[in-house]
Amino acid sequence: LASRNPNKKNTVIKIGNIKIGDGSINVIAGPCAVENRDQLISIARAVKKSGATMLRGGAFKPRTSPYSFQGLGEEGLKILAQAREKVGLPIVTEVTDEESLPLVAKYADVLQIGTRNAQNFNLIKKVARIGKPILLKRGMSSTIEEWLMAAEYILLEGNEQVILCERGVRGFDSFTRNILDITAVPIIKHLSHLPIIVDPSHAIGKWRYVIKTSLAAIVAGADGVIVEVHNKPKEALCDGAQSLLPEKLEVLIKNIKEIEGYV
Ligand code: PEP
Ligand code: MN
Repeated sequence: LASRNPNKKNTVIKIGNIKIGDGSINVIAGPCAVENRDQLISIARAVKKSGATMLRGGAFKPRTSPYSFQGLGEEGLKILAQAREKVGLPIVTEVTDEESLPLVAKYADVLQIGTRNAQNFNLIKKVARIGKPILLKRGMSSTIEEWLMAAEYILLEGNEQVILCERGVRGFDSFTRNILDITAVPIIKHLSHLPIIVDPSHAIGKWRYVIKTSLAAIVAGADGVIVEVHNKPKEALCDGAQSLLPEKLEVLIKNIKEIEGYV
């Protein structure tokens, strides 16, 4: 079902006024985690002003260490809903487990399945049945085929609204967090009718390389990028080192607008 087929047009996903997969470029931006109301509303305003089309932010965070900030849970979802109300951007947020799925589904416009759950098929099927668009990250060691098979689970449930997201795969070099597999973009475009976006923030782990690799993703044919943005990256509770300042997000979007018509 995920395969490209001559009789099937590219899947276009509609979220409010925005479309993903129709040839336009979408930038999804926001903090790694919702930390408090002031933080999120202020970042959401900057994200909106920059021209990004969707707001990201985690309320339930799948952290490597149990001692790290785990997210605000429902409180974080409520803050995301307030930000949506105030700035008018749809929100994408991660669902980490079945237990919190009903809650996350109540607030999110797009449900994110993270790299750690990329082959958690029971969870994936249950998320699919909610019927909302799903941002499906590539597993950190998933092959292209495994990733498309995870998408297949969603499509088999009758939910066609899948946005694939390349977020880097495990490599040997600790200079970056992962290896951004840019080649996944043209390969997915060749193999599948589903839209694909790229998350350079989690792939690289350092904000300094996020703008150029985002542009590379767009040139490679991606339908957009998802990037982490923070107004005070040094004080961020999660992923500050890879978060762009709002002014850098503006630079990124200006650059994307310049190349958008050519790619
Ligand atoms: C995220 O986007 O917040 C995240 C945790 O990403 P990933 O699942 O790709 O690590
Ligand atoms: Mn993050």
